[in-house]
Amino acid sequence: MQTMKLATKLIHAGQEPDPSTGAIMTPIFQTSTYVQASPGQHKGYEYARSQNPTRTALEACLAEIENAAFGLSFGSGVAATDAVLKLLSPGDEVIASEDMYGGTYRLFTKVFEKFGIKFHFVPLHTPGALLPFINEKTKLVWAETPTNPLMNITDIAALSEVCKAHKILLCVDNTFASPWLQSPIDHGADLVMHSGTKYIGGHSDVVHGCLMMNDHELREKLYFIQKSSGAIPGPMDCFLILRGLKTLHVRMQAHCSNGKTVAHFLHNHPKVARVYWPGFEDHPNHAVAKKQMRDFGGMMSIELKKPGMEAAHNMLRSTRLFALAESLGGVESLINHPATMTHASIPHEERLRIGISDGLIRLSVGIEDVEDLLADLEAGLNNV
Ligand SMILES: *Cc1c(COP(=O)(O)O)cnc(C)c1O
Repeated sequence: MQTMKLATKLIHAGQEPDPSTGAIMTPIFQTSTYVQASPGQHKGYEYARSQNPTRTALEACLAEIENAAFGLSFGSGVAATDAVLKLLSPGDEVIASEDMYGGTYRLFTKVFEKFGIKFHFVPLHTPGALLPFINEKTKLVWAETPTNPLMNITDIAALSEVCKAHKILLCVDNTFASPWLQSPIDHGADLVMHSGTKYIGGHSDVVHGCLMMNDHELREKLYFIQKSSGAIPGPMDCFLILRGLKTLHVRMQAHCSNGKTVAHFLHNHPKVARVYWPGFEDHPNHAVAKKQMRDFGGMMSIELKKPGMEAAHNMLRSTRLFALAESLGGVESLINHPATMTHASIPHEERLRIGISDGLIRLSVGIEDVEDLLADLEAGLNNV
């Protein structure tokens, strides 16, 4: 089983037929507690906040698909992020990507700043940009790559060298790439975080988050936080994620293929000024994307030639297949307005400074027939 390729691991890792029935799918162990033969004599399961067999299977699978030794599963992506931040103490400092998921920014600035943790938001995709911010209090670098929504790419291997030299923990939010497109641990990251809500689940029907790591001591610390803070996923959610994972590779190949076609269509469209997608050779970090990603994915953002909120809203109101909604990574295409939706929690000035304009539109290209998607975008652009 050591030599399984990723597509095989996605379907089989961590899962055995259920010993009591032979059920090929891991059952949903909908239980809160486990009967003990005598006090302390049990099969590794005591209370379901600490352990659940559906979650055990999922955590083992998640570890393997990120080439990690350990996986931990949480009730949401931000719950997984929250657990990582709880490794820190007042006075510690964090360096994080400048444009990143708005909810991560909110958790850092509105929840953890209050507890005495200091955050520096830096364009991590610019080599060396973090160096002036490193001091003896720096304990964590939080890198999102590709970033949400500007699709900036950070060189994970180069960043990991800097972090290792300064004994700083490096966590990569791998949500946009998914385990199919990028393996941060292979490039030297200490921790990988995912919002399983997105590509991993893939069907817009479950909220989930996870962490993967190699270091046993780090796993023990994070497991202690997981069970002590209790932000665990339910067994049904674990089942849905296991089920989603089984088609991740097939879905991702379709997302990448449709993404490429849509990106080129928009790039050549007279009403579109700019397409942010790492597959273009003139993307500022294209070479890094090519080095560390297996393909370029189905996430992209665009600027219309007509600037401002109103033109963007005209497009957002007129697509049909591209549904106007937050979230991403599901089989269905979504369109989003970062300034008023996913990134509304970032102050206006700060948003403009990092390049998230009022007119920016983000697309999550689904796996519908690409001809239908192009026709839908054409209709949307006609209304601008
Ligand atoms: C959605 C998302 C998160 C947060 O995950 P939830 O499952 O919504 O809590 C974190 N990072 C990125 C890049 C995301 O897209």
